[in-house]
Amino acid sequence: MADQSLGQPMLNLNHASGLQRLDDGDNYTDWLRQLDITVHDFPYIDSILKQGYAEWLKLVSEMPELGKADFYLAGSRGEVLLADSLDSGQPMSPPWPKPIEGVIGQSLRERKVSTAETTDGVYVAVPVFTRIHGELFAAFGCCLRESNLMAAVLFAKTAAQLLHSCFYKCFEGLFVSDLLRVQQQAKREEQRRSKLFQVVQKLHDKIDVDSVLTEVFERVSGMYPAARLELLMSQDHLSRDPRVKSLQLHGQGDELLVRAFMEGRMQVRESVDPEEGAARRLEIAVPLSGKQGVYGVFHLQIQREEIDDVDLQLIGMLADTAGTAFENAKLYEQSNLLINELRLINELTKRLNQSLRLKEVFKFATEELLSIFKAEYCCISQLNKERETFEIMSSNVPGLSKEHFPKNYGFSGLVCSTQEPIILSDFQAYGKVSSRFMEETDSRSLITAPLIVRGEVNGVIMLAHRKPRFFSYDNYKLLQVLSSHIGLAIANASLHAEVRRMANRDMLTGLYARHYVDDAIQEFQKKDTNGSLIIVDIDQFKQVNDTYGHQTGDKILKQVCAIVKSSIRKTDIAARWGGEELAVYLPGASADNSYQIAETIRLRVAMDTDPSVTVSCGIAEWIQGDDKLSVESLFYQADMALYKAKNNGRNQTQIGLSGDAQAP
Ligand code: GH3
Ligand code: MG
Ligand code: MG
Repeated sequence: MADQSLGQPMLNLNHASGLQRLDDGDNYTDWLRQLDITVHDFPYIDSILKQGYAEWLKLVSEMPELGKADFYLAGSRGEVLLADSLDSGQPMSPPWPKPIEGVIGQSLRERKVSTAETTDGVYVAVPVFTRIHGELFAAFGCCLRESNLMAAVLFAKTAAQLLHSCFYKCFEGLFVSDLLRVQQQAKREEQRRSKLFQVVQKLHDKIDVDSVLTEVFERVSGMYPAARLELLMSQDHLSRDPRVKSLQLHGQGDELLVRAFMEGRMQVRESVDPEEGAARRLEIAVPLSGKQGVYGVFHLQIQREEIDDVDLQLIGMLADTAGTAFENAKLYEQSNLLINELRLINELTKRLNQSLRLKEVFKFATEELLSIFKAEYCCISQLNKERETFEIMSSNVPGLSKEHFPKNYGFSGLVCSTQEPIILSDFQAYGKVSSRFMEETDSRSLITAPLIVRGEVNGVIMLAHRKPRFFSYDNYKLLQVLSSHIGLAIANASLHAEVRRMANRDMLTGLYARHYVDDAIQEFQKKDTNGSLIIVDIDQFKQVNDTYGHQTGDKILKQVCAIVKSSIRKTDIAARWGGEELAVYLPGASADNSYQIAETIRLRVAMDTDPSVTVSCGIAEWIQGDDKLSVESLFYQADMALYKAKNNGRNQTQIGLSGDAQAP
């Protein structure tokens, strides 16, 4: 309030109803007439009294026939507030003549006109009452030097009446202007509220962090064009706006900003700006905070007179809204990133797991990684524990595929020993590790991640680019996540391969199982023109078991199998046909070729087994166009030949005749 003289009690006079009636002409005037001051207002009405008196004096001064006169205005306690002499046209000052103090005092006490006749003239005092409640709030006094008592009393009463009117005119005027001011203030506040509402709406429409900040800057500069605004962020925030800076929390940091950040509350500092004519300047620091924390601090600098308490509240609310909107936008961005990442992982694992072939998994992973990270080079290696080397399983660098490197070499070695991923912004500047992968490709940026299977490093993924600082920290983190999925897919494919191998193998001897050779022969018969089968049977094995025991029997069986395996080509298939009988299929071999092989086996068994045993072999051959071409008849024929060898005295090889080939 500009004028405190009216005080609170006056302001409480039905402001709300006053506002409602302002538009309502006559009613309003009637209503205004009903307003009055009460005893509670008396301590605050001096200035209205003085104003009323001044107006009154102007009117009275224009009445020349009054002659010589002095006027006095006294408050409700009898104190003279103003006094004027009409003779000189000048205000008078204390001490006041005794008679005037006397008549004023008496009129207030007795609540009626009081007079005193002296040689100076006639002194009259008239009490002045409030218009509705009739409470005594002032006294008007005068001294008329050229008048008789009656005329003086009449004049004083009329003058007091006029003064009363002037007082109420001022009172009403003040009241109305007070109402207007309140109304304007309410209007201003409403405008602020609607601005804030617009900001809230606008801000919550924004779902990216940068546009939230831009919106805040625009709003604040719209509301306070002369203000200087900047935003200091506590974490790295990439913004195109030069007003966004990073907040220094240590050392050089501005104490006001740091306090706002730490306490999460608005801080205000007032200072005098010597450059701008000692203008008072206000610095405001408001935290940008959401539910999860404080992200930064707005720093606003403005001239003191441009801002009041309500503005500060508004700025606080604006910052709160901005904080929530910023947090929402940030969370939205983060969840978007997360969703994309999850989608990528899901896609990759789905496709990785479509293939259970190890080679394909490596190849697919390489292609996918190159495209996801926009890398130029990729290399996936696996650790060979027996040889203590890394074997390159898949790479788009031709010089590297199928290469072997020592376990401790290069970045793979580093990743393997630390079990930690690596991000390297510039290989040229680093120079601590030598790397064929980096050197051969002329790469400068690198990200790597270990392939961890059951808690151990099983391999390493490396991605490179020739540009320095190509990969981001997010890339590096994503590679870590993807590598664990790739590791899993590799482990799955490896296990699958192992299970497949085991299913086709005989446990005791390590040779193929019977069903495998059956199927294999059928496949060969589809594409080859001929092939041979040898059946090898240990002689008198029952007796060997009886003599040395089953364990020794098993040992001898394994020795015989080892001799068979080392006597044939890689493409030949040796299987355990059952018990101590073995089958060897030699694709494309004639009976004579097979005979040579069988004889080699037979001789080696006789020589190299311990305790020594002998074997008998039966051979069968098939040639395209045979009328009885089937796996069964081939075995039958070989069995017949074996039978012949046994009957012939054992430790020998017999070739089956095609005439023996009868369907079993
Ligand atoms: P032949 O010279 O006529 O082949 O005489 P044999 O005793 O080898 O023939 P037979 O078919 O009568 O007996 C085969 C024996 O082989 C019976 C079985 O105890 C033994 N045998 C079969 N499989 C295994 C095995 O896995 N381990 C051991 N220790 N012995 C086996
Ligand atoms: Mg036998
Ligand atoms: Mg047998």
